[in-house]
Amino acid sequence: MPKFMFRCAKVAARTRPGRTVRFRAAAVAAVVLSLLLTACGGGASGNGDGKPVVLTTFTVLADIARNVAGDKLTVESITKAGAEIHGYEPTPGDIRKASKADLILDNGLNLEAWFGQFVEGLDVPHAVVSEGVEVMSISEDSYQGKPNPHAWMSPVNVQTYVDNMVRAFSDLDPDNAAAFAANGEAYKAELQAVQDQMTASLAGVPENQRALVTCEGAFSYLARDAGLKEVYIWAVNAEQQATPQQITRAIEYVKANQVPAVFCESTVSDAPMQQVVEATGARFGGTLYVDSLSEADGPVPTYLDLIRHDAEVITKALTAGAGS
Ligand SMILES: [Zn+2]
Repeated sequence: MPKFMFRCAKVAARTRPGRTVRFRAAAVAAVVLSLLLTACGGGASGNGDGKPVVLTTFTVLADIARNVAGDKLTVESITKAGAEIHGYEPTPGDIRKASKADLILDNGLNLEAWFGQFVEGLDVPHAVVSEGVEVMSISEDSYQGKPNPHAWMSPVNVQTYVDNMVRAFSDLDPDNAAAFAANGEAYKAELQAVQDQMTASLAGVPENQRALVTCEGAFSYLARDAGLKEVYIWAVNAEQQATPQQITRAIEYVKANQVPAVFCESTVSDAPMQQVVEATGARFGGTLYVDSLSEADGPVPTYLDLIRHDAEVITKALTAGAGS
């Protein structure tokens, strides 16, 4: 398959330093084995359709990537729907899958604590999709000053993710660059529409109830876009979360500001937030989605659904308490 081999060579040659990082295997034998296994265009899914395989670290990125890839690439996520993604522990199967991928996409901004170790020794190109977004810092806890990784919670930021994907996919598969560019533009228009819908919906929350109290501090970007004050129990999902001090701090805020409703995310236990509910009389406003999509038959099978769902749940819960 001469054309196939030629494309393999092009992929390697077009990898740009700075934008795409190539991890080199320590052992030559491992590289050779990996190349033999992948034959460059081989599939992580083993579906044998010959399309290059793009592997993302979580389901939200996979959905965004599918919108850009169209039918030209096979896109899969390492973590499954509903998974906790910050402290995920990759399995040997995940590593095997990654070794056969043609491109790996990660969010960056310290989201995937496991990622560096995961790709160590893999000879697969890798692109960081958050590159170029306006990063917000975490203001509290031991993460103070570090970037808040949840940049995708602003659809406007995701337009930058899309640009990065269009570039990375065009490097991977130059013959389809025009299709990726067109898909990217179409999806960016949808992102803008959802962004406008979200901010319009949340603009309806009364002035004195514009506080978004959640479990993880994952909503900084959404709160910024919508003009809400963000309050959370813990900064980033980790082993040390929901300490008594963190819960007390949230309780005090909710009481002092008569916050009508509080929320928690789908990938963590809402038990700490239920303690806030019991101590304050605030309502539990609902489950929000941020770090993972739901299964296809759940409430947020796509990223656009995720933003629409969260905007609706927040608006409803905070507006229902108005005047009571
Ligand atoms: Zn998170």
